[in-house]
Amino acid sequence: MTRHLLKAEIHCHLEGAAPPDLTRAQAQKYGVDVSSILDENGYVWSDFSAFLVCYDAVASLFRTADDYAKLTESYLAELAAVNTIYSEIIVSPDHGDRIGLGADAYLAGVCDGIHAAREATGIEARIIVTGERHFGPERVIAAAQYAARARNPLVTGFNMAGEERMGRVADYARAFDIARDAGLGLTIHAGEVCGASSVRDALDVVRPSRIGHGVRAIEDTALVERLAELGTVLEVCPGSNIALKVFPDFDSHSLRALKAAGVRVCLNSDDPPFFRTSLAREYEIASSAMGFSDAEINGMTRTAIEAAFVDEATRVRLLSRLDAETGDDGRKPA
Ligand SMILES: [Zn+2]
Repeated sequence: MTRHLLKAEIHCHLEGAAPPDLTRAQAQKYGVDVSSILDENGYVWSDFSAFLVCYDAVASLFRTADDYAKLTESYLAELAAVNTIYSEIIVSPDHGDRIGLGADAYLAGVCDGIHAAREATGIEARIIVTGERHFGPERVIAAAQYAARARNPLVTGFNMAGEERMGRVADYARAFDIARDAGLGLTIHAGEVCGASSVRDALDVVRPSRIGHGVRAIEDTALVERLAELGTVLEVCPGSNIALKVFPDFDSHSLRALKAAGVRVCLNSDDPPFFRTSLAREYEIASSAMGFSDAEINGMTRTAIEAAFVDEATRVRLLSRLDAETGDDGRKPA
């Protein structure tokens, strides 16, 4: 059992974390029929395109700053209830614009939710602004400019999500330069849908400290060595990878091999209820399906906090909380 272990995650998409019960309540509030995408077991989709339709339908039920505050607070409360001390939430201000709410109100709602959750549970959280790759370089650059301009203390990172097969990473380099110059931490989705070359491109062009997924780096031994040498952290989301068939099963998932090769890895939930998972389940999978010991799992939690886009005072506080719990002096690699 891993329930008692302290947890942290640095890769979860806000709209992708919407608890089904909250979605049901939102659908009622706005008079929307969600029977085709939501049943008593949760969200319903069959393949990747149906997943995107379902995701958009759920996202469309959050329309006001208050809706976003409620969504953020309920997800963080759920995390805190399973001993999570830190979370980074990936948000798209573009989405706020597209639904007519506006990026500022969207972000303000998320911040309100973070403050409310921290007040109620003590959980610490930060926001990663993401550009959506499939909307093209202009939109991704605009997202980076927005994040840089926001000067919001809770916005600490920049990411690029969306369709990995769209364009070359180089087309998006400027967005990452803008974010880097603004002092934001950098991470990028790669090595999930596309293979090792997408991870190599990300390292060459973006030079991020972290990569979202990156699990297909395993296809290239030299690349695995390079990741280990650089200390790049892979935000691994095993349940998501199996749901989207990146690997056929947990036995063939690359997490263990990557870790054994010295790559820094941590556990994350991605879009949890859409993949019938949760951060708690990801920890449980790491333990029971992948055979990691509690010490190895605590080591991955430590990696998540070490790689977190937070100020050093917060990082030190989170690490000492973890060390107090694990009896670790923090010096030996787990
Ligand atoms: Zn993701």
